[in-house]
Amino acid sequence: MVPYVYDFTEGGRSMAALLGGKGANLAEMARLGLPVPPGFIVTTQACRVFLTTGAEPPSLAGELADHLAALEASAGRSLGQPDDPLLLSVRSGARFSMPGMMETVLDVGLTDAGVAGLAKASGSDRFAWDSYRRLLQMFGSTVMGVDAELFERALARLKEFVGAPDDVSLSASDLAELVDTYKALIRDETGEEFPQDPAEQLRRAVRAVFASWNGERARVYRRRAHIPDDLGTAVTVQRMVFGNLGSASGSGVAFTRDPATGRPGAYGDYLPDAQGEDVVAGVRNTVPLAELERLDPNAYSHLMGHLRVLEQHYRDLCDVEFTIERGTLWMLQTRVGQRTAEAAFTIAAALADEGRIDVDEALTRVGGDGLARLMFPRFDASATGDPLARGVPASPGAAVGAAVFDSAEAARRAARGEKVVLVREETTPDDLPGMVAAQAVLTARGGKTSHAAVVARGMGKVCVCGAERLAVDVRGRRLVVGDTVVEEGAVLSVDGSEGAVYVGAVPLMDSTVMRYFETGERADGVVDAVAGALDQADRVRRLEVRANADTPEDAARARRFGAQGIGLCRTEHMFLGDRRQLVEAMILAHTDAERERALDALLPLQRADFVGILTAMDGLPVTIRLLDPPLHEFLPDHTELAVRVATAARPDPHDVALLDAVERMHESNPMLGLRGVRLGLVVPGLVAMQVRAVAEAVVECRRSGGHPRAEIMVPLIATVEELRLVREEVERVLAEVSASSGLTVDCPVGTMIELPRAALTAGGIAAEAEFFSFGTNDLTQTTWGFSRDDVEAAFFSAYLAKGVFPVSPFETIDRQGVGRLVESAVAEGRAARPDLTIGVCGEHGGNPESVRFFHDAGLDYVSCSPFRVPVARLEAGRAAI
Ligand code: PEP
Ligand code: MG
Repeated sequence: MVPYVYDFTEGGRSMAALLGGKGANLAEMARLGLPVPPGFIVTTQACRVFLTTGAEPPSLAGELADHLAALEASAGRSLGQPDDPLLLSVRSGARFSMPGMMETVLDVGLTDAGVAGLAKASGSDRFAWDSYRRLLQMFGSTVMGVDAELFERALARLKEFVGAPDDVSLSASDLAELVDTYKALIRDETGEEFPQDPAEQLRRAVRAVFASWNGERARVYRRRAHIPDDLGTAVTVQRMVFGNLGSASGSGVAFTRDPATGRPGAYGDYLPDAQGEDVVAGVRNTVPLAELERLDPNAYSHLMGHLRVLEQHYRDLCDVEFTIERGTLWMLQTRVGQRTAEAAFTIAAALADEGRIDVDEALTRVGGDGLARLMFPRFDASATGDPLARGVPASPGAAVGAAVFDSAEAARRAARGEKVVLVREETTPDDLPGMVAAQAVLTARGGKTSHAAVVARGMGKVCVCGAERLAVDVRGRRLVVGDTVVEEGAVLSVDGSEGAVYVGAVPLMDSTVMRYFETGERADGVVDAVAGALDQADRVRRLEVRANADTPEDAARARRFGAQGIGLCRTEHMFLGDRRQLVEAMILAHTDAERERALDALLPLQRADFVGILTAMDGLPVTIRLLDPPLHEFLPDHTELAVRVATAARPDPHDVALLDAVERMHESNPMLGLRGVRLGLVVPGLVAMQVRAVAEAVVECRRSGGHPRAEIMVPLIATVEELRLVREEVERVLAEVSASSGLTVDCPVGTMIELPRAALTAGGIAAEAEFFSFGTNDLTQTTWGFSRDDVEAAFFSAYLAKGVFPVSPFETIDRQGVGRLVESAVAEGRAARPDLTIGVCGEHGGNPESVRFFHDAGLDYVSCSPFRVPVARLEAGRAAI
């Protein structure tokens, strides 16, 4: 029969699922010969039985008794023994750390009869009564269900009555009186006496720890940390050791390296004459660990030895909790320690240099999220106060600037050298100049794939969107949050990594890692560590990494950041600014001749764009997507225009024509309307103009000695018929340009797969496509039926809180749904055309967890904004290990 209780000597680190993280690591330390107070562990399996049946497994009581007997034999005294009681700590410990979320009962075994014995054995009356009142307090609330607040109030009343400024000032007799108060409290609240049988105390404490798995706090924590609800907790039962037995005792925490910077050398805090709980609770100020060397050189040198053993053994940064009881050092906990992103890279590189781990393992110890954090300026965490508002952390980094409420003002102030934060209800393509000019973009509406988010991420601008508490008053040039009014020009600090906005200027810390990507300068050890990890990732990864870029500057940056081409050039971004009038003219054209004139005017501009981008990416593939967004986005706002026409004495005929067009083109669901390939098929000449611009750009680059590799991509295909029609047009134009230039211009033609129907009929579509690129933004939108611009701010926070999904499907690919469409399209596409190139260019292409999925799904490349290229390279490498 599988046991429900394991002695420390029977367990080990690999058994965390059964023994919990704490228990497994205590067992490991015991096996390494480190001084661990003896004990045993009740398994998570026993807890699961309790949680499902409401009762402990029948054999548990017997096993507990046997292990207790063995513990008593080794200690030479028994639980609660009146003249010198053995006391126990009973602690929770799940497989995944859930700090402070479940229960602990200390000093189990103490009774009325044992207090005097403990006082004698320890030489301290005060210590004995203090231990007893701690037990009553913890047992009373945790096991017997008395409101913890009642104990706190009784303690506060006593302190006030005797004039004690803190707990430590209470005398032995004060504490003895408190014990009586607590006992009466338990009796009054439960109708039951505090149990004087030590074995009963132990049994009930174990049961209470089991039950605490389903406490409110623990359930909420698990939901947030994505920890399954059915794991259960183990219970570690261990002999108590005391750090509060005078100046030769104490408790502390230590790390084998600095968890903030990764620098070698032990690091930690120590509190003389205190229990471990006191260190964590911060009741008194701790001293740096180095001080322990002076206070107790012997214990210090033992501790340093143990830390070396642990780091050697775990081959990683470890943290420990320890207690010194009258000069004897005890190790109470260890685990592979949490660390900052900076420390993660530094430590992985150092351990690889020291030959303790190999370079592949070093790569598994770092991650894309951490790298993203290191790439952007950060706020000095010690200098932030309460945020003014919170929103979606849409584009990482930190920025400070004056609040402005429209694009023109942003551009005006930026031209004067001022730093600005563009604040909008939401952004549209019209806001682009303002976004370029601003340090950060802040919106009250929209989620991670809203216009603001996608564009800001592409530009590497800080962005917080969907900060719903903001009331943005564009006319009044101010924003209001509750009682706070921020007028135009007032300084805001925006943290795009955390999704927070602060009033005033929070001090900024620059990123040396970003400087390295931009200039190659290796300013510090963190940069060396990041560069080393990326080198290794590049060696092992199978996925290529391309960038989403629409300008030569972005293309050049993407290349510096390691992109192997452009996976998505959104041509609609090239139709903004001054060119909007030309687009307007195209939309308003009444005759073919008018439309052709407008298209002819656009052609040279597009061609010049493409020459710039192809030159910046010379020799590498550049996937140019035909125009995608709804045409009405290029027309003025309906309300503004209608007001202008209605209030003018003699309306401008151009305005009237525009208003007519805006009304004609109005759609209830523009995202599902006239966009993508549909535009190309209904606006005569549009595809031909764009393809001609690409082909002529290719010719021009080739004539100047370049090696342009343009690819043409068709958006929003639902059926192969659409692609076939566009393809005919593309081939006709390519043939014309080839004939007129005397050079063979041969661009691969492919399609985006961003509608479920396209994914489901991928085999047929592959017959007409040389490549696929998954548009996972639209594929997520259309598979879930979630409007990508609206839902995140509207109700995702409620969905996340209720656990409908653990993370937004616009951020991390939904493997079961959208991912399944991707997998089936890959399989069908490759079956139809084995040499089909397949990539992804939705926002998921730069999301660490999603990159792993795309690797598993067998894609050839991921494409993401230039700033996420290093993150994607790193994650593609990690996925390949
Ligand atoms: C997509 O839908 O994933 C995509 C890349 O296209 P866009 O975001 O431009 O619609
Ligand atoms: Mg799309």
